[in-house]
Amino acid sequence: MMSLTNKRNGEETINHTDLMIRSAFLHFALPDLDDTELAEIKEALDTGWITTGPKVHQFETDFAAFVGARHAVAVNSATAAMHLALEAIGLQADDEVITTPYTFASTAEVVRYFGAKPVFVDVDAADFNIDCRLIEQAVTPRTRAILPVHIGGLAADLDAVYAVAARHGLAVVEDAAHSFPTLYNGRLIGAPSREQARGEVRSAICFSFYATKTITTAEGGMICTDDEALAERCRVMSLHGISKDAWKRYTAEGSWYYEIIAPGFKHNMSDIAAAMGLAQLRKVERMRKRRVEIAGRYSRAFGPLPQLQLPAGAPDGRHSWHLYMLRLNQDTLSVTRSQFIEELKQRNIGASVHFIPLHLHPYYRETYGYQPEDFPVSYREYQREISLPIYSKMSDQDVDDVIGAVVGIVEQYRK
Ligand SMILES: *Cc1c(COP(=O)(O)O)cnc(C)c1O
Repeated sequence: MMSLTNKRNGEETINHTDLMIRSAFLHFALPDLDDTELAEIKEALDTGWITTGPKVHQFETDFAAFVGARHAVAVNSATAAMHLALEAIGLQADDEVITTPYTFASTAEVVRYFGAKPVFVDVDAADFNIDCRLIEQAVTPRTRAILPVHIGGLAADLDAVYAVAARHGLAVVEDAAHSFPTLYNGRLIGAPSREQARGEVRSAICFSFYATKTITTAEGGMICTDDEALAERCRVMSLHGISKDAWKRYTAEGSWYYEIIAPGFKHNMSDIAAAMGLAQLRKVERMRKRRVEIAGRYSRAFGPLPQLQLPAGAPDGRHSWHLYMLRLNQDTLSVTRSQFIEELKQRNIGASVHFIPLHLHPYYRETYGYQPEDFPVSYREYQREISLPIYSKMSDQDVDDVIGAVVGIVEQYRK
């Protein structure tokens, strides 16, 4: 659309009339909400059942059917989901869990809840997912689980992850916060792996319905598994460790009597949240298609520019496109990543960075003595990553504005 500079025959012309700046700030992320969420929430309010009850039950049933899992347990965040999954596989103090530093706070903090150690392995520069060639050498006698993150919505190499898990008797807890819906080898993330189906590896897949994620309940999460005992343990521990159907104790069929079998947590989802989730689930395909479309438009616009590196994975629907993770080829630009984001902001475009690797943060640096270069790929790729807005509420004009701004900045600062 707009080209600030035209380099032709070595001659540079700047077309200032093209420097159009959108009048309203384009948010980095926005949920796609309408009257259907309101109608579902109103139903919950009208019945008077506002916390864990029939809407949660329905949401669990529909979500499990969607991804092809036998069990789904709804909770109040993905953080809670991973906490419960690690508890259910029996994680203990001083155990180790293998994950990557290229993720959000939750992925490693849930390991610390148990006094266990998150053992980082670096990511693959191609796609920011765990580098499966490095997993096996990180396994020790204390390793209990592998916690891969499907970053941005592109599946990690689960065949490799589960193969290592099966060889060493480890559990797998997947951080699927970005990956609803993401396909891996023809099945949706959330459906059991071959190893789980055969009972060789215990596993749970944990989704997030935080406000910025691909579907939202404002705050919420889901644990999917085919392992009935694991699902039951998560369900019991999500509501104070109360033995059976704790939420039913206030229904007509319920009873006042209950037993506490373990000191559980308060991680249950409310029916108001589940009501939103039911409405979101019904439009997930439309929202996904729109994100695929936006990713395609970005990639067609940025593909010809040698200053930019496109995210891995063709926009063919295998990817949930929760994030569009663009990278700068810095030796071709006289602008840093932070300045690039500042330039986007001046053009009224919101952007973000995914992620500041965990080993650079004071807590992990000080607790484990990490240096930036301990995970060189994470460190290097983080410094050139920019996440662009990608959500179904974006209009074609919004998408054009992002493209125009990115192309304009590249042309202004290219070497
Ligand atoms: C958002 C996010 C989470 C946490 O999700 P909550 O539902 O907010 O707990 C975990 N992991 C990753 C990679 C995330 O981006």
